[in-house]
Amino acid sequence: MSSNYLQTPIDYLKGVGPNRADLLRKELDIHTFQDLLHLFPRKYIDRSAYHKTGQLSATNAEVQIIGSITHIKTIKQTKGSRLVAVFKDETGSIDLVWFNRYKWIKESLKINTPYVVFGKVNKMGHTYSMPHPEMELLEDHENKLRSGMQAVYPSTEKLSARGITNRVICGLQEQLFLGLKNELSETLPETLINRLKLPSKKQSIFGVHFPKNNALLSKAQYRLKFEELFYVQMQLIRKNLLRKQKIKGFPFTRVGEYFNKFFSDHLPFQLTDAQKKVIKEIRGDMGSNAQMNRLLQGDVGSGKTIVAFMSILIGLDNGFQCCLMVPTAILSVQHYNGLQVWCNILGISVSLLTGSTSSSKRKKIHESLENGELQLLIGTHALLEDKVKFKNLGLAIIDEQHRFGVAQRSKLWKKNESPPHILVMTATPIPRTLAMSLYGDLDISIIDQLPPGRKPVKTVHRYDANRLSIFAFLKEQIKNENQVYIVYPLIQESEALDYKDLMDGYESISREFPVPAYQVSIVHGKMKAADKEFEMQRFINKQTQIMVATTVIEVGVDVPNASVMVIESAERFGLSQLHQLRGRVGRGADQSYCILMTSHKLTADAKTRLETMCATNDGFAIAEVDLKLRGPGDIMGTQQSGILNLKIADIVKDSQILALARSYAIELLKADPNLETPENRPVRVAYAQLVKYKNIWNYIS
Ligand code: ADP
Ligand code: MG
Repeated sequence: MSSNYLQTPIDYLKGVGPNRADLLRKELDIHTFQDLLHLFPRKYIDRSAYHKTGQLSATNAEVQIIGSITHIKTIKQTKGSRLVAVFKDETGSIDLVWFNRYKWIKESLKINTPYVVFGKVNKMGHTYSMPHPEMELLEDHENKLRSGMQAVYPSTEKLSARGITNRVICGLQEQLFLGLKNELSETLPETLINRLKLPSKKQSIFGVHFPKNNALLSKAQYRLKFEELFYVQMQLIRKNLLRKQKIKGFPFTRVGEYFNKFFSDHLPFQLTDAQKKVIKEIRGDMGSNAQMNRLLQGDVGSGKTIVAFMSILIGLDNGFQCCLMVPTAILSVQHYNGLQVWCNILGISVSLLTGSTSSSKRKKIHESLENGELQLLIGTHALLEDKVKFKNLGLAIIDEQHRFGVAQRSKLWKKNESPPHILVMTATPIPRTLAMSLYGDLDISIIDQLPPGRKPVKTVHRYDANRLSIFAFLKEQIKNENQVYIVYPLIQESEALDYKDLMDGYESISREFPVPAYQVSIVHGKMKAADKEFEMQRFINKQTQIMVATTVIEVGVDVPNASVMVIESAERFGLSQLHQLRGRVGRGADQSYCILMTSHKLTADAKTRLETMCATNDGFAIAEVDLKLRGPGDIMGTQQSGILNLKIADIVKDSQILALARSYAIELLKADPNLETPENRPVRVAYAQLVKYKNIWNYIS
């Protein structure tokens, strides 16, 4: 019963007729009383102070003054006339001025009656004036709900043009509150409110619309932000828990022959502590009765491949098939070549499936997958085709998952009667706070440590004019038997132009580094897959010293002997892409370099990106800058996530509140997964409402 008031269509609010209702719906997406209540002010004007006319200065922006009108006059101007009301307090006077529609105003103004006026102050000669002031009888002013600070609501041009000014919105909010009885019931458990010393729901909502002072406003905002983030997290975590309850995974109880043999006899290097920790986490997941759904984050070069392979060995040890899916053919070939060596030693059957796999090979793969002979399949999107059927797929790993959509992830789920364990890996460092919101329904592992002995890549920014000295530097590096990448941007809208740049670049490089002393490879997206692989292989085999390429080499490619990454038109790349590209070097023992080439024309943002790259190699620090520069909207994958629908919290600025909200949500759900205790009744009710009215499941993948 009680929530009905808040669900009333906005048309029925006093002061809103059908026209205004239409506008509110169209412009601000306000359909119900509750929507209006959740239209939060974007800022506040201080109206706690009252100015005296005798102490005005030209720098007073917006002030309010108490006084009375002594007389009114109309003054002719070149065009029409203006209305001036002389407004006096005990210290002096100011002119209130209207330039149009003033007939009606003139009639409504009361002489010698106390008013509060509010507006911008202008100074002309020795007189101060206030054009088009907001006016209120002092008597009304004192009876109003509003107090010290005035809310300023989000608006649109159309709204103000049609007379729905901020003042009108304030009036509507007030109207709404006057009709409110006990509908704003508490939505957080009492213990939580007490522990965090939060104001009540009602106090908070009231407090953000009609704040008494800054301190109370902050408290109210904090509570509402906390609540909003708390419920986002509740939904994500609850979804994850439900999945674990509902979907029984295959319990990989054994760590057997394959894993142990590889670990004791064939491990090519000592695992880093971070790698060990992550393998333990994965093992724990796969050994439990629930299905694993885990995100593995690790900066470029942190060594995710070996973690993937050892997870695969556990799957095979338990008699299941496994697959590894990657976004590009180049990368799949590289993984295949790398892992095949170990598979051969251990006696594991492994195949590669890409778009260019011949149909006869393909047929063999399909058969051996279905009869269970094939243990490990590595490949591209080709794995997702319906024809690819496993006998018993137990673990699916997706590398560089940011290149895949959610739809593709879920397709892998369906490759089996009951879904396999899923491990998605990404080198795109997502700031922790964002990851919590985006992937809150996944468990997250992080490799936060690089293999020992890595020298940080030295990064410099150079202009086109420095080209000759850079060529000399590259020759020196090649003389030392190192290899070089030169990457050109390829950005869709200007594709033709970009290809021209790439081909011109390739030509001039070929001229500068002539055969037979030098060999230059080129790889770009328009080449046939087989040609790409051929060129890539020549580079890996050190038959060529220079690789001219587009960003197709951005993901995953691992050539430890490459020591220089030159990025042309670096100002055109985003930060995360630059960081990915730089991650192609610095994988061997030699000092590596990244050279960012640009023209002299740089935007402020481009400068920040370049400076950031030169200043740090830390992917997470870079991701934080990226988030600040671009906002969460442009970061991969956020669009679908609904995180942008936040009404009061800010994912960047309120990251600490988010972390807190998440930890409380976890704690609460651990103790009471189905929200059954009387204590958690408010949460149960609020949660049900969210799902009912917002259809929240739609925007959580
Ligand atoms: P990414 O996380 O970017 O996928 P890779 O798995 O390709 O990184 O590993 C990068 C390089 O580091 C590879 O050449 C790999 O063999 C090497 N590597 C990985 N782990 C270690 C380690 N613990 N010690 C030494 N080298 C390692
Ligand atoms: Mg990798």
